[in-house]
Amino acid sequence: MLNQDVKYIKGVGPARADLLSKELGVRTLGDLLYTFPYRYDDRSQTLRICDLMEGMPNVQLRGRIVEFFKEGAGRKQRYIASFTDGTGYCELVWFKGIKYAEQSYKIGQEYVVFGKPTFFKNRFNLAHPEVTPLNSAERGEGGKQVQALVPHYHTTDKMKASGLNSRALAKIIETALAMVGLIATPQTEERPARGGLGGTLTETLPDWLIAQRHLVSLGEALRIIHQPRSAEEIPSAERRLKFEELFYLQLGILCYAKRQQLHIAGYRLPQVGELFHRFYRERIPFELTEAQKRVLREIQADMASGRQMNRLLQGDVGSGKTMVALMTCLLAIGNGFQTCVMAPTEILAEQHLATLRQQLGDLPVRVELLTGIVTGKQRREILEATARGEVDILVGTHALIEPTVQFLNLGLAVVDEQHRFGVKQRAALWEKNTQPPHILVMTATPIPRTLAMTVSGDLEVSVIDELPPGRKPITTRHYYEEEHYKLHQGLLHELQAGRQVYVVFPLIEESATQDLKSLQEGYARLVDEFPQYRVGCVHGRMKPALKEEAMRQFQERETQILVSTTVIEVGVNVPNASVMVIEEAQRFGLAQLHQLRGRVGRGADQSYCLLITKKELSDTTRRRMLIMVESTDGFEIAEEDLKLRGPGDLEGTQQSGMPFDLKIANVVKDSRLMQEARLVARDIVERDPQQQNPEYALLWQQLRRLRKERTDFSEIS
Ligand code: ADP
Ligand code: MG
Repeated sequence: MLNQDVKYIKGVGPARADLLSKELGVRTLGDLLYTFPYRYDDRSQTLRICDLMEGMPNVQLRGRIVEFFKEGAGRKQRYIASFTDGTGYCELVWFKGIKYAEQSYKIGQEYVVFGKPTFFKNRFNLAHPEVTPLNSAERGEGGKQVQALVPHYHTTDKMKASGLNSRALAKIIETALAMVGLIATPQTEERPARGGLGGTLTETLPDWLIAQRHLVSLGEALRIIHQPRSAEEIPSAERRLKFEELFYLQLGILCYAKRQQLHIAGYRLPQVGELFHRFYRERIPFELTEAQKRVLREIQADMASGRQMNRLLQGDVGSGKTMVALMTCLLAIGNGFQTCVMAPTEILAEQHLATLRQQLGDLPVRVELLTGIVTGKQRREILEATARGEVDILVGTHALIEPTVQFLNLGLAVVDEQHRFGVKQRAALWEKNTQPPHILVMTATPIPRTLAMTVSGDLEVSVIDELPPGRKPITTRHYYEEEHYKLHQGLLHELQAGRQVYVVFPLIEESATQDLKSLQEGYARLVDEFPQYRVGCVHGRMKPALKEEAMRQFQERETQILVSTTVIEVGVNVPNASVMVIEEAQRFGLAQLHQLRGRVGRGADQSYCLLITKKELSDTTRRRMLIMVESTDGFEIAEEDLKLRGPGDLEGTQQSGMPFDLKIANVVKDSRLMQEARLVARDIVERDPQQQNPEYALLWQQLRRLRKERTDFSEIS
């Protein structure tokens, strides 16, 4: 029944079925039942006009129209009805659909109207209210009572244009509910007895779990969520549906992790090795932080276990992940394996190469670079040496995963700044040896704890939660564009002290031309403002060689100011730079701002991050700037980011692979329920790792069904 195509539902048909499928992904009756309202309007209360107040949500009024008139002309024309209930007057206003309003509503007729009151020119008005003649409102269409709580469903502009608005969708869902026997058919007057009809729905959770968690049945929950009889019953339905969703999410994740544990063998790297010890004794220029040591122990234990390591290394910018990566490589090399380090950009790959070579000094470790720019004879030689097993660390970009790159014995792949890599690309790494190599993914975009629970359970997470000693927290300030002049003194002071300055501009493809222009103007302004200093410029549209040259000049202090786009976002290391100016900061997300800020504060000097925005900002943008000014803690920022943007958008999590879309639960707001669901799921996975216990058969079956729906669910994270 649930798999029935929506087009056979009364009131749908092929055209609407097409819309539902394209716009909402709703194809079956089941999909329809799982399309939840995002809010309800309370239609049980009727207000008096004299009691209206500013800021009220939607209200219901009851009265008569005494007069119609039009204001404005052409496209600005408004159609206005003066409406009274005897306690006062308010206006009903239409900007669109004027003809329809003109034809439909009459003076003298009693109406129930519904809308959000705004106070304008001394009078309340309701724009585009819902208007229902009172007799039919009282009795309800089709003879039933007016619903007290009216559900609202998300619809798209395309749907609205063909009349498939929230109300129409509610109607279709009502029919669907009746088809599965959860409500009486709309035609019959009879309402189902308290507790609802039994319905023909199959439960998706076993009875013992429903009883143990005090949940309402699936049928009851679906009936309530779409057609609540009172506001009080809604939470029980939400809890049931959210629990179900989070439970299967966790069950899927934990099952996968279990299978991974049971099945995916990895190379055993039992020894620490002489190379590691020599590096530790002779080469390491500082004392490792406690966090770095702990993480290295975790990694070592992982790689010695015989299971394939799949570890996410989180650490704020500047926390010293590169050192951990290098030492992990040395562990692998010391066990006779080759390693590779994958970076998201060429600049970064080159920088890694330089850092690694410098840090290794005269140790017998061969490090080579393979990026798109390495071509011809040089490329051939590196490829051959790699295939012969002579290259110990191959540093590169995406170029590393191409099939032409063959290793003799790849044992470890380090992936830097994972969010730039897609799931498929990482999967390709697995194929580079007969058994999958160990994988260490490094990211400076921390995944908040709440989310870490939901991203692919096969990723173990290590956290470097400590910065190397002696760093001064970066001072962050927020300025408006009009206040540019205020920056001059500060920048001059830093430049005179021999420090360097980054000035970053946003550059996104859509408005690339305009952006390029502002970048060039910014460049000209700085050249003008600081004639005694040299200004460099890098952006994504430059030829790689020129880019590289500009970066080199800045690194070697030949230029003191670097105007750039976000190409410098990730990983670039110029410890002498002490100021990061971010222009049009409102266009960056929190994670990105934090990344950019991390480019400074790498030396021992006080560093600054100056956020420049226009004056008119939305509340969330203003909040973002405030968070940046107040916090330098990447985890805190990530949590805030999650709250502001919701999990779907969070950088670094998109590709880490939520196995299912969540329709009703929210991993942030419902984190306690998720914790609960996780404990139950973990218990089940522990008891029945082979998924054979008949007691849990329903669960495994449902899990497989959900997995199948999500065809792009990938096994690699
Ligand atoms: P990220 O985690 O952002 O990749 P890096 O590995 O680039 O950070 O480290 C930032 C800087 O800190 C580098 O110059 C590095 O040499 C230095 N560093 C790393 N670990 C330590 C440490 N334990 N003590 C002092 N400096 C360190
Ligand atoms: Mg780094």
